[in-house]
Amino acid sequence: MDSSDVINPATGAVFTAVPANGVTETDAAIERAQRAFMSWREVAPGDRARLLRRFAAVVDDHIEELAALEVRNSGHTIGNARWEAGNVRDVLDYYAGAPERLSGRQIPVPGGIDVTFHEPLGVVGIIVPWNFPMPIAGWGFAPALAAGNTVVLKPAEVTPLTAIRLGELALEAGLPEGVFTVIPGKGSVVGQRFVEHPAVRKVCFTGSTPVGKSIMAGCADQVKRVTLELGGKSANIVFADADLERAAATAPGGVFDNAGQDCCARSRLLVQESVYERFLSLLEPAVKAFRVQDPALDTAEMGPLISAAHRDKVASYTGDAEVAFTGEAPGGDGWWFPPTVLLARSSSDRHWREEVFGPVLSVMPFHDEAEAIELANDTEYGLSGSIWTRDLGRALRVSRGVQSGNLSVNSHSSVRYWTPFGGMKQSGLGRELGPDALLSFTDVKNVFISTDS
Ligand code: NAP
Ligand code: MG
Repeated sequence: MDSSDVINPATGAVFTAVPANGVTETDAAIERAQRAFMSWREVAPGDRARLLRRFAAVVDDHIEELAALEVRNSGHTIGNARWEAGNVRDVLDYYAGAPERLSGRQIPVPGGIDVTFHEPLGVVGIIVPWNFPMPIAGWGFAPALAAGNTVVLKPAEVTPLTAIRLGELALEAGLPEGVFTVIPGKGSVVGQRFVEHPAVRKVCFTGSTPVGKSIMAGCADQVKRVTLELGGKSANIVFADADLERAAATAPGGVFDNAGQDCCARSRLLVQESVYERFLSLLEPAVKAFRVQDPALDTAEMGPLISAAHRDKVASYTGDAEVAFTGEAPGGDGWWFPPTVLLARSSSDRHWREEVFGPVLSVMPFHDEAEAIELANDTEYGLSGSIWTRDLGRALRVSRGVQSGNLSVNSHSSVRYWTPFGGMKQSGLGRELGPDALLSFTDVKNVFISTDS
């Protein structure tokens, strides 16, 4: 079998290799998952819940190991990587509550009784990108398994290690063979089989908008269910009445976290013109102080970019742009890029319009509330965003006005496992996490029972 090298992005050094599965191995895994579905769906709800809680506990016992793997494979800061492994545990625990609460309805009808069931779909295929290998995997597999489906999961070719380890931990926790299988390999091979193989009844995809569209089109052929989490170009809107010190101190984290490789990155900063100069003067020291370091250090706030090719792509946005100021990044080996703040000359600037997916913030002033909403919505994306103001009415008006799936007021929080997460417009389709995700891994079945004698 072919294999693919795994590289440490902080040094550029190859440190291991993993198998690159082909069509034959993928089909075998899907068919194993299909057989396992027959018995997994019959596991009593309380037993399925117990197995998921045990899986969560085993993940909890391996937080440090998983976090260290992610630092090495993905260049995530150790602080973030610990949070990400903990998020897998929390999401498993949260959905472990689901099997025993997956109630249908009893609907009044004449001549009998009518009940509904939330039936599992069958085999679910999950395609994970390289930017958040652990959380995005867990947001798919935890609710899918809780609802009674079996799962085949393809990690991104460049970041397979934590997903492979999670697959082993599932077995260690007692999940039956074939219920949760991790199959590393290329998207165009393994991922494509998830789309084509008739036993896969749903595909969950997170990644770029063009690939998401092709997956949705491919799934149409078998009316296969899809959940899509795609790109973003989210706005951070700062009004003149806001706590400007706090807004400026947190703006770097809102866009540079994970080196900006985050679909929720607040990569467009809109500042009300009456405080524009003052806000930039508060932002500059916060950007310069943002610690870009060896991601294994506890003090690191940002590590390297994922690959040389990705660094070239990010750099292509800053070349001819007007740079306001930059932070610091280590030189030498690895794919480092400094936090960079650009001034947008117009809303047609490439860095203002396109998802850079790197530590690049574009800034523009606005006049009033209406213009802020108009500028924020002038994009095909609609994933997240932030609104800074002390005026409660304005916070609510702007929250309702911005076409985005996840907004936060006076903070930069998008992802909380208790609440739904997903995009409007071309940022995606469907919702993950919270109470909404579970039912998207089921179909409603209606049964009428005649009481006529
Ligand atoms: P991508 O090509 O969309 O990759 C995402 C996942 O889809 C990977 O596991 C990839 O596999 C797989 N894939 C690729 N082509 C496929 C196909 N034809 N059929 C099925 N699966 C397929 O994203 P990328 O190339 O890694 O990144 C490009 C840009 O996408 C980034 O710069 C960023 O703008 C955006 N992006 C967004 C997110 C997000 O969270 N929304 C995440 C990642 C990237 P392999 O890579 O292993 O071949
Ligand atoms: Mg790609």
